[in-house]
Formats: sequence, C-alpha cells, structure tokens
Amino acid sequence: MSSESVTPVAPITTNFLRNIIESDLNANRFSGKLWAGKPGTAAVQAGGTPDPARIRTRFPPEPNGYLHIGHAKSICLNFGLARDFGGVCHMRFDDTNPEKEEQEYVDAILDAVKWLGFDWTANNTEHLYFASDYFPVMFACAEALIQAGHAYVDQQSPEEMRAMRGTLTEPGRDSSWRSRPAAESLQLLHEMRDGKHPDGSMALRARIDMASPNINLRDPVIYRIRHATHHRTGDTWCVYPMYAFAHPIEDALECITHSICTLEFEDQRPFYDWVLNRLQELGQVATPLPHQYEFARLNMSYIVTSKRKLLQLVKEGYVSGWDDPRMPTLVGLRRRGYSAAALRLFCERTGVSKNNARIDYSLLDQALREVQDPVAPRSVAILHPLKLVITNFSAHMIETCQAPRNPHDPAAGMREFPLTRELWIEREDFAEVPPKKYFRLFPGNSVRLKYGYVITCTGCVKDENGQVIEVHAEYNPETKSGTPGSDLVKVKGNVTWISAAHAIPAEIRLYDRLFSVPFPDAGDSDFLACLNPNSVEVIQGLLEPGTVGTDAVVTQFERLGYFVPDQIDSKAEKLVFNRVTTLRDTWAAGAT
Ligand code: ATP
Ligand code: MG
Repeated sequence: MSSESVTPVAPITTNFLRNIIESDLNANRFSGKLWAGKPGTAAVQAGGTPDPARIRTRFPPEPNGYLHIGHAKSICLNFGLARDFGGVCHMRFDDTNPEKEEQEYVDAILDAVKWLGFDWTANNTEHLYFASDYFPVMFACAEALIQAGHAYVDQQSPEEMRAMRGTLTEPGRDSSWRSRPAAESLQLLHEMRDGKHPDGSMALRARIDMASPNINLRDPVIYRIRHATHHRTGDTWCVYPMYAFAHPIEDALECITHSICTLEFEDQRPFYDWVLNRLQELGQVATPLPHQYEFARLNMSYIVTSKRKLLQLVKEGYVSGWDDPRMPTLVGLRRRGYSAAALRLFCERTGVSKNNARIDYSLLDQALREVQDPVAPRSVAILHPLKLVITNFSAHMIETCQAPRNPHDPAAGMREFPLTRELWIEREDFAEVPPKKYFRLFPGNSVRLKYGYVITCTGCVKDENGQVIEVHAEYNPETKSGTPGSDLVKVKGNVTWISAAHAIPAEIRLYDRLFSVPFPDAGDSDFLACLNPNSVEVIQGLLEPGTVGTDAVVTQFERLGYFVPDQIDSKAEKLVFNRVTTLRDTWAAGAT
C-alpha cells in the first residue's frame, strides 16, 4: 500500500513533555553533546562530532508480541516529538529477556511502525538498534560497579531475597553476602557468565540501601543467570541484565535525551538515575545523561490490550487471528480499515497526560471519519437488496447518471453509473404500510432515486409467503438530477440504488465492538463473558459498478459508512469489504 506522509494531521496542542523539551532547548541543556554516529560508551562518544539531533527519543518495544493501539500512542509520541523538535527517534528492540522473544515479532513491529508513517533513518543513519548488541557493555558496566563497591553477588535464593526485602512499612534486611569483597563478587560474576552455576543459585545486586523507603532501591538484582537461548545472541550468554538495569544503559549508549515511558515506571526513576550517575562517575557513559519522563498509558473502552488476554482471544478462537479486524492490534486495526493518518490523529487528539483515564472508543471512529470524509471516494452499496422495477422505463434503455466522487473535493470529478429499468434498492427503503414520518417508498409516495429521477411508487409484488419481492414505480422524465427544472418536483425522501444488470456482488463484513461493555477487564470480571455476540455480521451485498475492491482505499458507501477491501480475502473475482465504522456514532448514550 502507499505510504502516507508524516505531516501532523491536527494542529499541535502543547503538553507537559513539549514544555519540558522546549525549556531544555532554551536552556541549551544539550550543547556540547557529542554523537559518534553510533551507540557507545563515553569513550566512543568522546570521538564523535556535535550531535546533529537536537533531541533523541526512542521507541523501545520488547519483541514478544504484536503491537496494539497503546503502542501506537508511544510511537506517535516519541517519533512525533523528535520530528517536531529537530531530533531523531531511535527504533530500539528491548530484547534483553531471552525468553519469548522472536524474529517474527521483530519483523511485525518494524512493519507496523513504518505503516504508521514513521522512519528511523535520519541524517543518513539508520537508527535501528537491538539492546542485545549492548550485552558486552552491560556486562562491563556490571564489573565496573562491583569494582567500585556498588554491586555484589548474592547467594540467597530468590525466596530468601524476597523475604529480606521488607515491605512498604518495614525496612529490608542486609543479606549476609552484602559485604563480601569486590574481588570475590567479580570472580563469581565471571563464573556465572561461564555457565558454572545453575539458574537462581546467585545473582548480582546493586548495593544501595536496604532501608530505602523506595523498595526499588533495596539492592535490586541487576544480573541473573538464565540458561536460555536468545533469538539473536544464541547461547553466547547465560547471564542476562534485568530490565531496570539494562534500560538506562541502553538510553545512555544511544545518547537519548528524553526517555519517555508510562507511569508504572515512576518509582523506578530513582534507580534509573542511580545507575546512570554511578556509571558516569566510573567513566562508562557519556554526558549529558538521559532523563526519564512518565506519562499515562492509553486506556481505551471496549478493548483489552493485555498481551495475555489478546493471546487468549487468538488461541481459543474467539477471533480469527492477531489481524482479526476486531482486534486492537495494529495489524487488526489496519485490516479493519483504520488508516495510519486516522490513528495518528487519534493519538494526537487524546493528548499526553499524567492522569490515567479511559479514552472512549468512539474517538477513534471520529478520527477515522475526519480523516476520510474529505478524501474517501463515494460509492453505493446495497446490503439487503430488494428489486425495484421502473415500469415506464424501456427495458432496452441505459441512462448514464453522474455523482461527485467526493462532494468536498470538486477536483476529484464525477463518477458515472447506469440507470436501467430494474434496480436494487435497500429492503428498508420500501414499506407497504409506512410507519409515521417514513419518507421513502410506499404506494403513492414519490422519492428521488439519488442522482437520478423522481419516481412514484405504484405497488409491489409478493411471493406466496406474503414477502415483498418486487417494488413497482414510475419515473418522471422531467426530473433528472443536474438538469434544469429537475427540482421543481419536491420530495422528502432520497433512495440509493444500483442497476441490477450492472451491480457487482460482494461479501460485506459489518464489524462492531468486540466487547459489549465499556470495561471488559474491570475488577475481577471475566472478559470473555463480555464478548459482544454480534461483533461481526457477514452479508452478501451489491456494489456500484466501478467500485475498486483490491486497493487499500477507504471508500464511503453512501449512508452506510466507511469500508475497505479486506487485505487478505478480497480478490478481483470475489470482492470482500470490511466496514471500518458507520457514518455516525451508533454507540452514543441511548443508542444500541
Ligand atoms: P509488557 O507487559 O510485555 O512489557 P508493554 O505493553 O509494556 O508490554 P513493550 O513492548 O514493553 O510492551 O512496550 C513498548 C513501549 O510502548 C513502551 O515504551 C511502553 O511504555 C509503550 N506502551 C505500551 N503500552 C502502552 C499504552 N497502552 N499506552 C502508551 N504507551 C504504551
Ligand atoms: Mg514493557
């Protein structure tokens, strides 16, 4: 599909992160910052040139699953800030945990970021990094900390460590190994690395303060033994750094200025700073040091984003896969037809804050409508066809009608389609006995065939069960849309139609919310019990001739909403369209 440009789609609203970056830049906080053209230690960066990037941010996913709409928020934020402030955003895989990480996820994540419209190539450099490439440096940092008295190898079992850690109200207690000589810890760390000890038998801990009111500073584990094969480094290592130790080092090696994460990491910030300050003192990492900032993660109604729950939906067959159009994954949203521009608008609109709040799903649909309304080609689809016969229209006659491709964009020109004696209309556009305020077809009433003529209903034909199978009408030849005098006959109803001989059959998948309650994972509620039983309806409909069904173009089917050809199932010989969303919010208060 065509990649879209990354111009901001909404006026930029300020937020606390923008304010921080602006004041950092105004204060010249990064003047003198060097960049060697690649990540590296203080020694490497010292050989660099003044950094061409005014700021550096990063998007650091763990390659252990498919990205979802929450990640889109982080991608738009990090890449967006770099773009707007003359900076660079690094694409970094935080692959320090050997278990559960796979190449398949790496590929899918890169694809999703590109599709969203972002690029990690800047200043002729591809800023694509893997934290696992830093394992040798991280190990050297661990050695340096031991030598400086800032870390020790503890031989307590994980259970003992937990018991000694204390609680929110009680301080922890020192391990008996805490005071062992640095040389002994260093020797043990090397034995750990050399595979001499089993998993869990010992671990390297930072020596900080077992009585700290912040439990994260009570001598956290920084390296552990894991005899596991890593997706990139294979069996080279059997010791792996803990996330809280690895992350600040990754940021520092990459000369990140603003390390943006979600609020859960707020309590980790003191340890983040501790690691970087110690490593700076030891000459390991370059200055200025990165700073961590936290914002509220995106929480949205009617979806779940927990990896475990998404996996369960896939594994247990509640959806057809990670890319099921009802999934909140980026592959799912993309297949459903939410364009990258709509997702970017949604992320921009929902802002950046320090307060956890739930964003209503309808904002995403609203963003899609706003992005697509000015550009989406219009077309007609009939979902529940009923035959309409214009009895005074010759069976041999084909009349060409015209309609705007997009009423907001005259430059897009007009589309043409044929009007013939037999047409398909929506079943709901005829009522033998009209309910109150019904302005469409019923015997004796006149309506306009949209872009065609005014017709007057003369009756209907029923089958043996009393079901209406054909509607009859006569047209008024003086009323063709777009011709002089066509509006002399006033009618209240407008009916969409397609020439029966020219209609294109298509499968149409009408999607709805996957869950029928706004908070499917609130409290202890069983999220599977909240699945919406009517989240998809598959129907065989008919399309206006000329409708394109193989590109990823979002089309507005008049009256019905925005639709996109299904990327996987739609073929020239059998079109399949997904409805992204309706023209209006049908989930607003009161509506169902
Ligand atoms: P895990 O529970 O496996 O850590 P995760 O959702 O945090 O899952 P990561 O791969 O670590 O997944 O996330 C990559 C980045 O995306 C992180 O910087 C994280 O803060 C951010 N992110 C993840 N979910 C959201 C969300 N809902 N809103 C905003 N940012 C998010
Ligand atoms: Mg995470």
